[in-house]
Amino acid sequence: MIVAQDILDVDIKLPSAPGVAVRILEAVREKWAGSEKLARVISADPALAARILKVANSSLYALPQKINSIQKAVTVIGTNLVKNIALSFVIVQEMRGQAEGGFDFDFFWKRSLTAAVAADLLATRVSGRSDDVFVTALLQDIGIAVMFLSRSRDYLLVLDEKMANNRPIEDAEREIFGFDHQQMGARVLAEWGLPENMHVPIAYHHMPEKVPEIYRRRTGMLRLSDRLASIYHGTRCVEKIQDIKKTLSGAYGMTESQAAELVDAVAERSIEMLNYFEIPPADMKPFSQILQEANEELGKLNFSYELLVMELKQARDQSDDLARRLKEANAKLREMAARDSLTGLYNHGYFQDAMERELQRCVRYRRPLSLVLADLDRFKSVNDRHGHQVGDRMLRKVGATFLGNVRNSDIAARYGGEEFAVILPETDIRGAGVLAERIRRAVEKIEVADHGVTVRLTLSAGVSAYYPGSDSGNKAGIISAADKALYLSKQSGRNRITLVK
Ligand code: GH3
Ligand code: MG
Ligand code: MG
Repeated sequence: MIVAQDILDVDIKLPSAPGVAVRILEAVREKWAGSEKLARVISADPALAARILKVANSSLYALPQKINSIQKAVTVIGTNLVKNIALSFVIVQEMRGQAEGGFDFDFFWKRSLTAAVAADLLATRVSGRSDDVFVTALLQDIGIAVMFLSRSRDYLLVLDEKMANNRPIEDAEREIFGFDHQQMGARVLAEWGLPENMHVPIAYHHMPEKVPEIYRRRTGMLRLSDRLASIYHGTRCVEKIQDIKKTLSGAYGMTESQAAELVDAVAERSIEMLNYFEIPPADMKPFSQILQEANEELGKLNFSYELLVMELKQARDQSDDLARRLKEANAKLREMAARDSLTGLYNHGYFQDAMERELQRCVRYRRPLSLVLADLDRFKSVNDRHGHQVGDRMLRKVGATFLGNVRNSDIAARYGGEEFAVILPETDIRGAGVLAERIRRAVEKIEVADHGVTVRLTLSAGVSAYYPGSDSGNKAGIISAADKALYLSKQSGRNRITLVK
């Protein structure tokens, strides 16, 4: 005997076969009229009989005629097959009843049934249906259920060990129990009187290469059926699927599409079978559908990624726009802070900064710089005679005159109340004098009407300059020199300009 009995003479009490199972097995062992006896045993259990009829009429067998009695089932699909279907129901039913915490019997049988369906499909493809393949695959892991039911605590340790260290379950079993579920399962089936072609392959289903030659093909099929089941009831990974497909094409000569078809059929048939066994299939669906749904999910993911990118881009555009507007507003604010509101010329503060900056630049590049300081003549009397508003209109026109006569690089400012200044970088005193004179003449021509009276005024100016190499390169010195020249203009009769010598 291949199963090592002595290893298994341990403290595990083998479960006795369920009562109906015993009677079924006894019936088929009868030399005479075994099939009638089998039909009688099954018919005595109406629930069992109804289930068997459902399976017999299912797409699994695709029979041309309807089978409406066990007797007919036995005749059409054979004693052995009816026996196997009946045993499957009885054993699954029995082993479900004793479910305890920590072990999910529904899941266990769901996976086993899927393996059974897979084995049946494989066998049908390869060598025509073999009656015992379905039950053998269904019961290949029965050792697990038996071990759990007799020593639950220890078996939970096995499951922990498998999970924690990612070890093959049979390794963990051997360490904790001293034997594994292959041996246990084979032993139980042998004990129950099931034939050797069932329990020997089960004893080797994790190591098909070690089984005696005559059972090698069947054991390999068991192994593959378990892996097919794990597509639907285990972790899915590319390597696993590839590996299974490789075996299907290598060992079973299937094309890519035949393999894909088989993998799908496993799910479709399993869902039908689970129904007969009253085990909820949960969300089981054909692999191609799983793939398709995964693709759709991925599509949604891509779509939402695109949306996200678009939103981000929009947000960035908005923030760019905001930054641009902020920059503009800041520039405007800076400009506003630099300007005199009445005339639009630069204000005193800006003049001081610009004077500093431009002078430094001209000193550095050894370029000349000139300064014009101007003051309106007897402006107080304009205010006194015509009022402040007329004075303001005058100031505005003078401001416009300055702006209209300077170059872009010149800086025209309102220096004080009725005092004006022009900084002329890169310009010598002669050039500055020409500009001052031009402005003086233009101011002379300004007219402001006040109640039929035309108001006019004049301006006096002083011009100073910095020359490269001279020691006059300080701001205060240049301003005070221009101021002195302006004073001289006033002294000598107003409406004139004076250049510092
Ligand atoms: P001078 O020829 O010697 O410069 O005589 P002036 O009257 O122009 O000189 P003064 O400094 O005595 O008077 C300047 C006047 O300018 C005094 C002030 O009322 C007037 N003023 C200063 N700022 C403004 C302004 O913003 N608007 C108006 N309407 N008048 C101003
Ligand atoms: Mg003044
Ligand atoms: Mg004045």
